[in-house]
Amino acid sequence: MKLTVIGYWGGFPAAEGASSAYMIEKEGFTLLLDMGSGALMTLQKYKKASELDAVILSHYHADHIADIGVLQHALFVESFIHDSVKTVPIYGHTVDRNAFRQLNDKKTEAMIYTDNETLKLGPFFIRFLQTNHPVPCFGMRITDGTHTIVYTGDSGYQNSWIPFSKDADLLLADCNFYASQISSDAGHMTSHEVAQIATEAQVKELILTHLPHYGDHTQLVNEAATLYSGKIQLAQEGLVWGS
Ligand code: ZN
Repeated sequence: MKLTVIGYWGGFPAAEGASSAYMIEKEGFTLLLDMGSGALMTLQKYKKASELDAVILSHYHADHIADIGVLQHALFVESFIHDSVKTVPIYGHTVDRNAFRQLNDKKTEAMIYTDNETLKLGPFFIRFLQTNHPVPCFGMRITDGTHTIVYTGDSGYQNSWIPFSKDADLLLADCNFYASQISSDAGHMTSHEVAQIATEAQVKELILTHLPHYGDHTQLVNEAATLYSGKIQLAQEGLVWGS
């Protein structure tokens, strides 16, 4: 199972870059987690839009879904050029039904996930956990039977992350705040909160993402390292984990 970071900025993309989008591949199956602003532009350095087999959206904030509309345009236009362009399923929650319906288009189909059943998608089994966020949002535990990635989506700290992340090979965590900041009202986590989860869940590696547009990101790593002794990396475009 191979993860490639496509976009990692919190809130909006920097001048060069994208907000949340992560590509996971195995055995020729390509899954995209979230599709924020700039994600389609950046994705195309690695894959054509029509090579996506599925997309899963954690929630419907713009920095996670902004490029769904242009993905729909891209697939529709490509379908005129190539007969082989298939309809791409986009998985979302139905707590917000209006937002969910927007996932349907000529070459995309809205598909439901819930937090009470495991989703089987290509070679992956995916479970969901509702997060602590101003709008309904779900994190994901993705396994291929050998390795496990936990992606928090957007989330403030909650104890349920610890059992949900237990023994994961990688925790890809919302770290939008420095340790000294107050994170709880915003529905994001600080470096210390993320590191606490990583330590207590005994995850093998940690990638900090949904990064802020201020400060020095290496400070986030240094702060997390005071509580977590495993490998810590900052998300960056093109960062690959696994194989
Ligand atoms: Zn959000």
